[in-house]
Order: sequence, then C-alpha cells, then structure tokens
Amino acid sequence: MNRTSGSAAQALEKFRELTRKIKQYEEILGVAYWDMRTGAPRKGIELRSEAMGALSADMFRLATSDEMGELLATLAEADVYRTLGEIDRRLVDEMKKDYDRNRKIPPELYREYVVLTSKAESVWEEAKANNDFASFAPYLEQIVDYTRRFIELWGVKDTPYDTLLDMYEPEMTVAELDRLFGELKARLVPLAEAIAASPHQPDTSFLQGTFDKEAQKQFSLHILKEMGFDFAAGRLDESVHPFATGLNPGDVRITTRYLPDDVVSALFGTIHECGHALYEQNIAPELAGTPLATGTSMGIHESQSRLWENIVGRSLGFWQRYLPDLRRHFPGRFDEVTPEAFYRAINVVQPSLIRIEADELTYNLHIMIRYEIEKMLFNEGLSPRDLPEVWNAKYKEMLGITPQTDSEGVLQDVHWSGGSFGYFPSYSLGNMYAAQIMRAARRALPDLDAQIAAGQLLPLKEWLTEKVYRHGKLRQPAELIRDISGEPLQSGYLCDYLEEKYRDIYRL
Ligand code: ZN
Repeated sequence: MNRTSGSAAQALEKFRELTRKIKQYEEILGVAYWDMRTGAPRKGIELRSEAMGALSADMFRLATSDEMGELLATLAEADVYRTLGEIDRRLVDEMKKDYDRNRKIPPELYREYVVLTSKAESVWEEAKANNDFASFAPYLEQIVDYTRRFIELWGVKDTPYDTLLDMYEPEMTVAELDRLFGELKARLVPLAEAIAASPHQPDTSFLQGTFDKEAQKQFSLHILKEMGFDFAAGRLDESVHPFATGLNPGDVRITTRYLPDDVVSALFGTIHECGHALYEQNIAPELAGTPLATGTSMGIHESQSRLWENIVGRSLGFWQRYLPDLRRHFPGRFDEVTPEAFYRAINVVQPSLIRIEADELTYNLHIMIRYEIEKMLFNEGLSPRDLPEVWNAKYKEMLGITPQTDSEGVLQDVHWSGGSFGYFPSYSLGNMYAAQIMRAARRALPDLDAQIAAGQLLPLKEWLTEKVYRHGKLRQPAELIRDISGEPLQSGYLCDYLEEKYRDIYRL
C-alpha cells in the first residue's frame, strides 16, 4: 500500500467507506425482510414495504453514484490497482461489475420494470390460485420484453442467455451448461426410469401419521447443534417458505416450516438452511462488513445447503447415528424401524410435477426443463404465450408425466414473475458442485464416512470452512472449485454419486 499515491490512498479510503455503507444498508434491509417473513403484523406491511423500497433506492443510488464511478475509475487504473491488496482488488472488481451493469440501464426504464415486477408477483399469485395463465401472460410478456432490452443494454455475451446466467453464476456459459446438463440428462433419465421399473420400492408407511410439532422443533435444534451451527451467531424461526439470511457473519438467521403430517420435511429444510448458514457464519473476519462477506455465487451457496441436506443428511451413516435420537424425540414411533429401512424411505424417487417437492434425483430434471425453456425465450424468441404447451411437452419428455393444470405446471414457481431468469440452473449447479466438493473432502479426510456415522460432523464443517466458507466472495466459483478439486466443474461426480446410491436402494 505504501506505493499508493496520496490521492489514490484517499480514493481507497473513500471507496472502503462507501462500500461499507452499502453493506450496512443491505444488513438493515435484510433484518426488515426477515421480520416481514417471520411474523410482522399484517397491518404494518404496506408502510414497511414503502420504507424498504425507499432504502433500497438509496442503496442503489450509492452504488451507481457519480462518486462511486470516479472512485472506481481511480482505483481501477493499472498503476493504482497493482498496489491494492487482494481484498481491495476483489472489491473493486465486484463493485465495478455492478456499477457498469447498473449504469447501462436508464433509471426511468428500471423504475418501470420495478413497478411491473412488483405488480406481476401478485398477479402471478392470483393466476396460480385460479389456474388462469391467460391473466398472467401479458405481464410475463412485458417482463420478458424488458429483460430482452436489458440484455441489449448490458451487452450480449456469446448468446443473450449467457448475459443472464453470468448474474447468478459468474463465468458460467450456455455452452458449458449445455454440456453439463446434456451429460446429466443422458445418465439421470435412464436412472429414473430404472428406478420406476424396480420391484424393490421402499416402504414409507412409518413416515405417515402426525408428528408433534414441538418434538420436531427440538429434534431440528439438536441436529443444528450437531452440525456446529453457532446459536450465538444465529437463530432458527418459522416461515411459510424456509430461507436463510446472512446479515453479517455474527447474525445468520434461518427458518423452517413444521408440517404436522411429515416428520422429515422440517428437518431436511433445517439442515438445508443450516448449510447456507454455516457458509455465512464462517466467512473470514477480515471480509466482514464488506460486500465480499457472502457466498461467491448462487450455485456455490446452493452446493453447501445440498451437500449437508442430501449427501450427509440423507446418507445411511447419518441415520445409523441419528435414528436412535429421533426415536427418543418420538417415543414408540420408530422402534421397529432400522436405519436401513429409514434411509430407503427418505430416499424414495417419484417423478412429480412440483419442483420444490421433488426428490434428490428428479429435482435435476425439473431444473433442466426450466433451463431449456428460458433458453428458448431469450435465444430462440419463444413467445411467453406458448409457455404452457412447451412446458407440458417437456414434462412428458423428461419425467413422463403431464400437468393437468397450469397451476401445477408453468405457474408453479414465483421466479419469472420477479424477472429472475437465469437463476434456476443454480440449483443443479449446486448439486454438481456438492458432489465434486464431497469427493475432494473424502480424499482429504479418509475417515469422513466413519466420522459421519459416529456423529462427528465437525471435521467436515472445518474442512469446508477452510476450503469454501472463509473465502466468501474473495474467490470466483470456477477458481474455488479448481482449487478444491483440481479440475473444473464436472457432471460425472453427481451422476456417480446418484447411481451408486440408488442402485443400492432400488437393487438395480
Ligand atoms: Zn437453498
């Protein structure tokens, strides 16, 4: 830093101050968002939404201000940039990317878009409730139109859809995803078909019935402790849709939803969100308070929740250790059930219409359908009005089932009403990253599976902290996965993992 000139040093100081302020806005908005979804009084929602809208607009103004532009211009100059430390350099890259992108959209156009999408979400909600795609279609058409215009303004990468992908998974491309998803499809569709044809379907009868909510909560809390969730730096609450929010590394909040007739739904929801939370709680202290104190991409974030939920939480070893604990929380309910039987029951594969209820295997097929459709919208000019037809044909092709209504078809997800195109692939990228990261973990920790079966989950958490969590946004996803596994992202590890698991469960 000593080689930084006086005015550059001043610019750096101002830049750090400004980015810190942006992060502070984000934290307070995060608290308000959490509050809205965990029991804020209904009558206060309207004014609260206005307050949040005003704060968001302020935050946006700071990030796109002329001052930010000037500071970035100074700091990005080669002579100055060279003298910056690793964190400041990455911070400049990150803020500059946002700044450049946001400054390309005329404020008036963006305002229209915000109004449109906030209206569209309630129209979508109603359309879904009434199975009325026609009422939502004009909104979707406009959202797609705006998005097409934004892509033009941002600049088309290899294809228009590449521009969208990059927002959620930096450096990911259509060419790369076509390859990865093509490979997944080629191995997972036949696997799902073999499973459906297997005479060895797991018995799930003991998962039925009603289960005391307080006992569910206590068991969820027990597993959170086992995973090393820091209760002095986080909390567990309830919400309709489970989520995790990292306000800062010392305040990471997760939620779950207890269903009286499902003993595992809340538990796996909790484990999933805890995976997100471990990431946020264990970011290095030197990144705290900067915009780098978060996950590096949606895909990597999702890899951490899915690694814990599926690869650990739905493994046989995990239940060899924790089924006795579950029995203690639900006396008499699982006395006759063996860990093997429990393991098979929680891993049932069943092609279904609803993504969020899908099993670990067919989930990926739901994602590929959305990916193919989004690509058609932005790269091939598909009209949003034709979506139901295309949707249903893809479900028939990929999962062998056809929705009877648009509510359980094209209208099921909220994402498109908010203009979140390019987001869906993150979920399957998360599954692929998770399998590849877990393979590297097994190599580094030869006793890992025995440790999990003995309830020693902390060595894995510590390894992940070292390899993933502590870096926050300091490393790009592609860099991170190469450092961890020695190669770029592959589809094969996820396929190997799923084939091995389900061949055993379904005796294929
Ligand atoms: Zn998640």
